[in-house]
Amino acid sequence: MRILLSSICLETGTDIQLALYYLKGYLLKHPPLSASGRLPALRSCDITIRTFTEDLCISRIARDIARQKPRIIGFSCYVWNIEKTLSVCRLLKKIDADILIVLGGPEATPRAEDILGREPAVDIVVRGEGEQAFADCAAAVAAGCGFSRITAISWRQDGRVRSNPARNKDLVPAAIPSPYLSGLIDLDRKDIVDVPLETSRGCACRCAYCYYHKNFPRVRFFPLSRVEKELALILSHRPREVYLMDATFNAYPARAKKILRLFIRHNRGSNLHVELKAELLDEEMARLLAAARANNIEIGIQSLNPRTLESMHRPFNREGFRKGIELLNKYGLLYEIQLIDALPYQRYEDLQDALDWLYGLHPVKVALFPLSVLPGTALRASAARYGIQYSKRAPYRAYQSNAMRRQEVARVERLRFAMERLYDSQVFQKALYDLRDKAGIKISDILEDFISWSARLPGAGRITPEGYNRRLPEFLAYVLRKKIGVRHELTLIRV
Ligand code: SF4
Repeated sequence: MRILLSSICLETGTDIQLALYYLKGYLLKHPPLSASGRLPALRSCDITIRTFTEDLCISRIARDIARQKPRIIGFSCYVWNIEKTLSVCRLLKKIDADILIVLGGPEATPRAEDILGREPAVDIVVRGEGEQAFADCAAAVAAGCGFSRITAISWRQDGRVRSNPARNKDLVPAAIPSPYLSGLIDLDRKDIVDVPLETSRGCACRCAYCYYHKNFPRVRFFPLSRVEKELALILSHRPREVYLMDATFNAYPARAKKILRLFIRHNRGSNLHVELKAELLDEEMARLLAAARANNIEIGIQSLNPRTLESMHRPFNREGFRKGIELLNKYGLLYEIQLIDALPYQRYEDLQDALDWLYGLHPVKVALFPLSVLPGTALRASAARYGIQYSKRAPYRAYQSNAMRRQEVARVERLRFAMERLYDSQVFQKALYDLRDKAGIKISDILEDFISWSARLPGAGRITPEGYNRRLPEFLAYVLRKKIGVRHELTLIRV
């Protein structure tokens, strides 16, 4: 029996899809039995992992899969690949009606019944953690029995969608074989640049716009002894970056410090990528992060508006955050602070205020993300109450809220562009601070001026980033003329 595990990936497609390797490792550890119940019906070579880049057309992906003649195909579904995955399923079923199509992942789980109701090509949706349920489905196929006793799946029986009960016990992480230590991932592959690693599953937070904590409701840890072995192996191959996938890496500071020490001990020049809370940083952790070459740190705060934060169930300690950012700056770490635009009560002016405050901390980068109203989230359930209107197709972008008009949400795209050109590119950073400190102009006002100024440039859409950089002295003159009525040659401010 051949099983194919697949996902349509963002960007290069060379990134490692951990979920697929977890499924394969678990299947090999718990192989489905043949109909006689004696012999394992599955060998390693019967389970193939095949990923596709998002630029490939649907028919090419479907034909590639069909050529391998799998009995079962499992797709890992995310917000960025669900639409295309469903199109591939439709075509695949036309090519070979006997393939059992199973979907799983954070985009399929909350939409299980909806997907099965609309998409006759999909046979089963695995809800939540997929390892056990997928292995149970494979076992049912191998034994030639039905799916009625498999927990945590939704499926179709005689044309009707059925949802079996959820599992009453979560998997113990240690029961899932390590894709690295088991040799399923060949780290010698030349195309492997960045390596993901989970040291825990789940999140203690309950952010209303996020689905992760519903898929993994409790925080469970992989044993530190296993994490050390994985790090030792991974780092011995000197990848460019190791990405720790944990929801908030430093949510448990003592454990995070232990992992950082392990990373430092085994590191041979790789960079570390983590997501963390700045409020939980202390001097020791900042020092350890620097020693671990943590040069890719994501810090989501999403908003500074207290009402927005409260409605999203996100506590925020402004003073603790400021101190954390100071520590990251002190140790020269590279990080990105992330905001989300059209959250409840978040006005366009709130974003401007947040940018003024955040740029006052001299951050490495601030990023402004569009709000996606994800299926299964508390925010999606209360979207109407917050006046949030959003696209019904993935990635479910919000285009209006109770605090932002449609035009304002659209303007955020221009604001993002202004932030990139004036701050992130670094060419204009000093002038931004000079304009603020010497001319008393708020940074958010300068960003707005850039939006208006750049919109009037002839052929604005065709100007390259370098082209914008060359024209920044013109922009500076425009700001000075507009705000204080002087020619920029009369000031000390230079680009
Ligand atoms: S947004 Fe991050 S911190 Fe909040 S629930 Fe999701 S994973 Fe946890």
